[in-house]
Amino acid sequence: MNLTNISTVKSILSRHGFNFSKGLGQNFIINPDICPRIAEMGNASKGYGILEIGTGIGVLTKELALRADKVSAIEIDTRLMPVLNETLDGLNNIKIYNQDVMKSDLHKIISEDFSGLKAAVCANLPYYITSPVIMLLLESRLPIESITVMVQKEAAQRLCAKVGSRESGAITVGVNYYGTVKQLFNVSRGSFMPSPNVDSSVIRIDIDPKIKLEPNEEKFFFHMIHAGFSQRRKTLANSLSSIMGFSKNDVYSALSELEIPETVRIEALTMEQLTDLSRKLMTIN
Ligand code: SAM
Repeated sequence: MNLTNISTVKSILSRHGFNFSKGLGQNFIINPDICPRIAEMGNASKGYGILEIGTGIGVLTKELALRADKVSAIEIDTRLMPVLNETLDGLNNIKIYNQDVMKSDLHKIISEDFSGLKAAVCANLPYYITSPVIMLLLESRLPIESITVMVQKEAAQRLCAKVGSRESGAITVGVNYYGTVKQLFNVSRGSFMPSPNVDSSVIRIDIDPKIKLEPNEEKFFFHMIHAGFSQRRKTLANSLSSIMGFSKNDVYSALSELEIPETVRIEALTMEQLTDLSRKLMTIN
């Protein structure tokens, strides 16, 4: 069954009485070039188990299953289950979980389903939870090699910004803390049904298994990052004193030990400066 043929897709969906949910970010890929590229650039190959988030009617799921040993996919919308039974019929290396990714035990899924395989994540993410899903995947320290996902173009720009630049945000620090990220290719809004108001980009995060901070330091670090970026126009001393309760003098002395100006804003600091500063502030806390 050709899952990028518009009339085929329309006829399956109407037969199942399915209508798109905007709230669940349902924009399905109908451009035939996109899913094979995501699968190929996202580690879907022999020896891999791929975790997919949000199957829709299974257009990417199918391309992943044709290349990888196993695919486990999480889809929240129960109405899509009978559709997937039909669209993925005949592919016997796919397991579908009808549940919310944010409430899923991803460690369990990966260890039970992908035993003996390397693992990676591939998805066309529902845009309303792009950052929470990416941070969940990273913070859970899943045994995965990479995360290859389609996101809104603006989100891709923020994710792929340089830490220490004006374009960066808490999510930029997050992905660069856990790995390296790059933008792979852009996808126009016309590649989806229904067509969203924005263009998209596919990005890939390669996970760095080396740990930069201890778990308790890591918690403090992300608290500091969120505090700093939630008031990014303020100086770091101002935002950390108002949100984390530090005295400005404590922040000033930590900054001066690191030879960073007192007036600095969080967006100007490099990853190394951020981890050093968090270690110093943690000893004061
Ligand atoms: N992979 C399909 C494609 O490329 O055509 C569908 C992508 S669509 C952008 C996102 C999918 O994620 C939808 O099928 C939606 O129902 C599902 N979804 C939304 N929120 C979810 C959640 N919290 N957990 C799991 N799936 C979710």
